[in-house]
Amino acid sequence: MQIHILTIFPDSFEAITKEGMVARAIKRGILDFKVHNLRDWTNDNYQSVDDHPYGGGAGMVMKIEPIYKALKDIKSALQGSTKVLLTSAKGINYEQAVASDLTKIDNLIIICGHYEGVDERVSEALVDMEVSIGNYVLSGGEIPAMVITDSIARLLPGVLGNPDSLQSESHNEKGVKEYPQYTKPEVFTTDDGIELKVPSILLSGDHAKINAWREENKQRD
Ligand code: SAH
Repeated sequence: MQIHILTIFPDSFEAITKEGMVARAIKRGILDFKVHNLRDWTNDNYQSVDDHPYGGGAGMVMKIEPIYKALKDIKSALQGSTKVLLTSAKGINYEQAVASDLTKIDNLIIICGHYEGVDERVSEALVDMEVSIGNYVLSGGEIPAMVITDSIARLLPGVLGNPDSLQSESHNEKGVKEYPQYTKPEVFTTDDGIELKVPSILLSGDHAKINAWREENKQRD
């Protein structure tokens, strides 16, 4: 799968390409990840990607022209199914099911907004989906684009060490969260002498009982 990012802060993506799961997916050739600098599609000396809003008001708005040109160029080099996603505080809520659907396409292009947002005509005419990662406002679409990329990359076959872990994970089934997990030691004692114990059933070796306990202890919405 290919993920293309359109951004004015290309270096920020080193946060996910240097180490971790996305870096691993790239190294293994499972994810082809390309970051494009939106300013490469500007043609004025200032390489401006934004301008004042029509009708007045605070802040700047990202222009449609550079985004239109960039999408045209990026798409012309792609084969297979492609979706264009605009990061936006106004978008549909990003959920595990959306991540899972996006793993089925060949190419995903993610546009990172900034300032007061993006000229509405981008959303009206150039994108397939407008996605919010939560009901709060961030200063740019880069962190949302990284969140989306990470959530997709770990679902691609061959990325996770043990793909079984995807089955029981939180949100795999809507509204169902993973059971509690514990590891060594069996008893952890705080400096105040409080003993924090692992539920004894998990030490029993009885897999039927353990599975039943896990099923019972999944959180549900
Ligand atoms: N004025 C806008 C917010 C702009 S924030 C509004 O009130 O809706 C600038 C950019 O950050 C947005 O264009 C978008 O790309 C990104 N962004 C901010 N919050 C986001 C969120 N919750 N999810 C996804 N992208 C977000």
